[in-house]
Amino acid sequence: MLFVDGAWRRGEGAQIPVENPATGEVLGHIACATPAEIDAAVSAARKAFGPWSRLAPVERSKALHRLGEAIAMHADDMARTLTLEQGKPLNEARGEILKLAEACHFYAEEAARVHGEIVPNATTDIDSLVVREPIGVVGAITPWNYPAELIGWKLCGALAAGCTIVIKPAELTPFTALAIARMVEAAGIPAGVVNVVTGPGSKVGQALVEHPDVDKIAFTGSSAVGLRIQQSCSTVKRLSLELGGNCPLVVTASADIDAAVKGAARRSFRNMGQICIAINRIYVQRAVADDFTAKLGRAADALVIGNGIDMPDADVGAMASAEPLAKTQDHLADALSKGARLVAGGSAPQGEAFARGHFFRPTVLADCTHDMKVMTEETFGPLVGVMAYDGLDEAIDLANDTPYGLASYLYARDMDEVRYASARLDYGNVAVNNVDAGIMNAPYGGRKQSGVGYEHGREGMLEYMNFKHVRIRYGEPKA
Ligand code: NAD
Repeated sequence: MLFVDGAWRRGEGAQIPVENPATGEVLGHIACATPAEIDAAVSAARKAFGPWSRLAPVERSKALHRLGEAIAMHADDMARTLTLEQGKPLNEARGEILKLAEACHFYAEEAARVHGEIVPNATTDIDSLVVREPIGVVGAITPWNYPAELIGWKLCGALAAGCTIVIKPAELTPFTALAIARMVEAAGIPAGVVNVVTGPGSKVGQALVEHPDVDKIAFTGSSAVGLRIQQSCSTVKRLSLELGGNCPLVVTASADIDAAVKGAARRSFRNMGQICIAINRIYVQRAVADDFTAKLGRAADALVIGNGIDMPDADVGAMASAEPLAKTQDHLADALSKGARLVAGGSAPQGEAFARGHFFRPTVLADCTHDMKVMTEETFGPLVGVMAYDGLDEAIDLANDTPYGLASYLYARDMDEVRYASARLDYGNVAVNNVDAGIMNAPYGGRKQSGVGYEHGREGMLEYMNFKHVRIRYGEPKA
């Protein structure tokens, strides 16, 4: 189904199957939106833009609160949809849906406070007003790893700013996006303000990028596709690109090792490592490296793997498709062939429950070096490499030795080390003695090949606004 101008359409294009990654069973089909349907979605968003952008901010705020309430009320059903198509355990999926509801309420508050500034001038008979205006029609293109939240940040930021939106979700996880559209309907958000078109990125995503009437593209996905988007916009457009990561964790000898192990296990393996801010590589000061690595191996082995529907509180579920699983296996084989030592995992779990799904055991490698893919490329799977270091500068250099700049992590109790390293880690997000690199009310974004622009926080709404300088002279007009 497509959701265009407040109405549901079956879609005229080819129907694409969507699979349950835990069982291989076909869950249903989605349409590949045709060029005419994409045009219809963009023109519905354009038509709705005028009235929506002129609404009193408090009315947009109320609409977002209603959306948050509708989503929270339907969290169980939406979580089930998410788990079925993405593979993460049901309780984790429910957590993601509730975070989407939280994002609605956060941006409902921001929506009510969209205001500009007055800049001082040399004389008092002039006002320089810096006015914030919504950009217009947004094309949002999203990946499959957080199918609800990654739509939510764009949807809420855009709507709060006064923009309208056409969403193109990932091919693997379209049903969560369509469930969000049903909540948009339930919240009484006017027709055309939110539209969802489904289908492959190379056709439907690309068509949005090339559409002359789309004013901004908000994209989350791989760096390769982000770069292609940047290069292929047909007209000058605002862009925000939330791209790949290859995130390091530095553990110094002063760290609370048990806390660091717990943090590493959580941030490396949650969502089967399919997180842009997942810890992919770990640098541990030599004196504590063996202890840390052995404990991390035990923590990885202890994680409970299961079909996310049958085992709602499993630690990890299936990977979303065969592709990230194959990449994980490739990075593992590459590291082992170059001398890495397998500490935990390394194979698929055995048993009937895992026979048809994309399952893999959380895997820890030791004795890694910087000629291995696991240390230099984004794995996007349940695999982490550990390497020992001697001095803090060496660890910081290794951590920064990457084209990516999304998130980095540090465990250290010595505050001089904390201060020194956090200032030098070249990342948009640095989490120290915790692994929550992104929170709703602080700006979140990457550097280098990890992207441009921000989501979360007030900045996540300002990404959808233009500034206009209005300079007004009172009294006698001046030539
Ligand atoms: P992807 O780049 O393959 O696809 C992302 C989206 O782009 C999908 O909807 C896809 O259909 C669409 N797309 C593909 N080709 C396109 C094209 N030519 N034009 C327009 N759209 C196109 O990424 P993925 O495999 O779905 O997701 C995994 C990647 O996303 C990882 O690299 C991960 O790090 C990144 N990611 C980044 C963040 C972040 O906040 N920085 C968050 C989550 C995921």
